[in-house]
Amino acid sequence: MIRTVNPKTILIWYRNDLRVHDHEPLHRALQTQADIIPLYCFDPRHFGQTSFGFPKTGNFRAQFLLESVADLRHSLQQLGSDLVIRQGLPEVIIPELVNALDIDAVSYHREVTSEEVDVERALEQGLKASGVSLQSYWGATLYDIDHLPFPVSQIPEVFTQFRKQVERDGTICPVFSAPQILPGLPEINPGEWPQLPDWGLTPPTPDERAVLTFTGGETAGLARLRDYIWTKDCLKNYKVTRNGMLGADYSSKFSPWLALGCLSPRLIYQTIQDYETQRVKNDSTYWLIFELIWRDYFRLIAAKHGDRLFRQSGLQGIEIPWPKNWQQFERWQTGTTGFPLIDANMRELKATGFMSNRGRQNVGSFLTKNLGINWKIGAEWFESLLIDYDVCSNWGNWNYTAGVGNDARGFRYFNILKQAQDYDAKGDYVKHWLPELADLPSAKVHTPWKLQPVEQKRFNLHLGVDYPNPMVDLDQSVAANRKVYETALSIHSQGRNKR
Ligand SMILES: Cc1cc2nc3c(=O)[nH]c(=O)nc-3n(C[C@H](O)[C@H](O)[C@H](O)COP(=O)(O)OP(=O)(O)OC[C@H]3O[C@@H](n4cnc5c(N)ncnc54)[C@H](O)[C@@H]3O)c2cc1C
Repeated sequence: MIRTVNPKTILIWYRNDLRVHDHEPLHRALQTQADIIPLYCFDPRHFGQTSFGFPKTGNFRAQFLLESVADLRHSLQQLGSDLVIRQGLPEVIIPELVNALDIDAVSYHREVTSEEVDVERALEQGLKASGVSLQSYWGATLYDIDHLPFPVSQIPEVFTQFRKQVERDGTICPVFSAPQILPGLPEINPGEWPQLPDWGLTPPTPDERAVLTFTGGETAGLARLRDYIWTKDCLKNYKVTRNGMLGADYSSKFSPWLALGCLSPRLIYQTIQDYETQRVKNDSTYWLIFELIWRDYFRLIAAKHGDRLFRQSGLQGIEIPWPKNWQQFERWQTGTTGFPLIDANMRELKATGFMSNRGRQNVGSFLTKNLGINWKIGAEWFESLLIDYDVCSNWGNWNYTAGVGNDARGFRYFNILKQAQDYDAKGDYVKHWLPELADLPSAKVHTPWKLQPVEQKRFNLHLGVDYPNPMVDLDQSVAANRKVYETALSIHSQGRNKR
């Protein structure tokens, strides 16, 4: 990396770090007393199609992104600066700006996955001739990459080993405080503000059944942090409530803001520490940190394994003959499988761009272990819709769910009916998303196919018309997919033993 000792003008390239608090590039730039030009590029590659033909950034995500960038611009304006907006390829736009504005340093937060890293490399190439200093920082995780107890190439594959070692020997750096004032921008066109239709997207319609009104941006992220931890005092019960599916506060809902960097994990950590000092320290306060370590783990595992994360055979390289059954996939996608727990979750995702962790695990298991459908299609559907889409967390969790992750331990699946009983015993969640089942008593709502014709009449439900019949037999489908998986695993193990 080239460095200039005393740069006069620094361009800060904003990416998934849309905040002013705990922002090292901004903090360091201020220390140099240089002029600062914050830039965000809406990259057209983010608005293309996934390999299976879904919008890469669907309308919920795109809306959340626009709100987040707008909020950053507003914060920078309040501090005396502004955000320059461009639409195009950063590796082309930044060198152009560097030439036009006599910029002598560019800094940014680095990413770990190939599409993002390729852009960083192309930018480095594009700036080579100019002799401009290019400085990258690490800012997405709780534990600092430079203070891990192991090099990235030796990150433990098993989460528990990773967690124990970072907890013992890793470092969580203090938060960089937000600037109080910033230098004004030089004369520059602030740029055209894009609209969703520019990317072929229609603005999403808010659904009043959503767990929360998610508004993008640091301001809303900080408000949620305050609200969840201090005002509503939810943290003290987090470990007990976190597996819920209904309502705003069963879990933190920090993920959308974390994904775009509107909230820094270190700030969440610092807030938890303050809460532990001022209110209570218990299993729940620790557990939120524990979950943030999962997030770190998936990012660092992605850094270690590169593109293997995206291969159909996953991090383990298990070649499972995954079929692509589009008719069946569409029933999963639209929430018409005939299994209320799955359908409610899939409809929530489609209507709001969010789904609980419990829901994600169940629908992922159903797609891969009951329908036996290629997990990558599911991962891409999530990529398109989830407002908290995070490339490492999404693809890492799907690897796990599909049984091809780095610590794959045989064929594991979720028993959908048991999950429904354990996490939605009264059926409140499924009734919330499936109004056609609203009249059913709790004891029957998760198994509508067992209703006798006379009961269907009594409860206003014509099965097969108002609500679909189940698309598979749960036990038989699991048994069939177990066979396919175990055969693939055994071939994989034999191959490994021969090496
Ligand atoms: C198939 C599948 C796909 C997923 N895709 C994503 C994704 O694209 N983006 C994403 O942020 N999370 C993803 N997750 C993880 C998890 O479901 C969400 O982080 C969580 O539901 C977000 O809600 P919350 O903020 O209320 O979580 P909380 O329970 O309040 O957790 C606090 C934070 O810890 C982190 N976290 C919690 N669980 C996990 C986990 N299993 N993996 C990684 N980080 C975790 C998140 O940053 C979360 O915001 C996925 C899980 C599965 C099973």
